[in-house]
Amino acid sequence: MNKLEKIKKENIKDHIPIIMDDTLEKIYEIIGNKKLDRILEIGTAHGYSALCFSKMLSEQGKIDTIERSHDNVEKAIKNVKTMKLDKKINIIEGDAVDVLPTINNKYDLIFIDAAKGKYPFFLEQSLRLIKKGGIIFADNILYKGYVMSDYNKHKQRTAVTHLREYIKLVTENQELETEILDIGDGLAVSKMK
Ligand code: SAH
Ligand code: MG
Repeated sequence: MNKLEKIKKENIKDHIPIIMDDTLEKIYEIIGNKKLDRILEIGTAHGYSALCFSKMLSEQGKIDTIERSHDNVEKAIKNVKTMKLDKKINIIEGDAVDVLPTINNKYDLIFIDAAKGKYPFFLEQSLRLIKKGGIIFADNILYKGYVMSDYNKHKQRTAVTHLREYIKLVTENQELETEILDIGDGLAVSKMK
């Protein structure tokens, strides 16, 4: 087993909701052979998806990834070092709601994978930070099928409302070309024209 597979296995054991294999494959397929200079991730967890995304980077390419849980940040730092990718993956500790407005770089790819209730805000910030021709991916957009069903328990209701709002915003935005894919836990793919 290679190092990345070992990290993946540990994540599963620790019940970290890592990116699903089919979602990851879809992202690789959409990006194709293109090498990216800058990737932004919202929701690092233990760094698994960032480690996977590093294979899409150009030689000078870098990933910025935001995580609010200190324990997760420590774990992610450790995993990134193990893979010798600490020069390429920059982990920012903090709530993305506070961190995003302080960022002024432009990104080729943005991966939204954190608090579902904040997706509309993450989108607003992503629209400011995405390059022309760049792609914004939002994971868990169909949230176990709740988003497309009319019965939702109170616990999921707020998340579902915000995920539906996200879908409405990306679909209606004339600058974006959006597809909502029923793979993994649902993936929204929005290309900035
Ligand atoms: N992208 C990871 C999984 C992320 S799980 C992977 O595929 O490997 C979601 C993570 O987002 C959790 O670690 C959680 O602590 C973090 N998170 C949730 N809301 C956040 C916020 N508002 N700001 C920063 N991190 C957040
Ligand atoms: Mg996810």
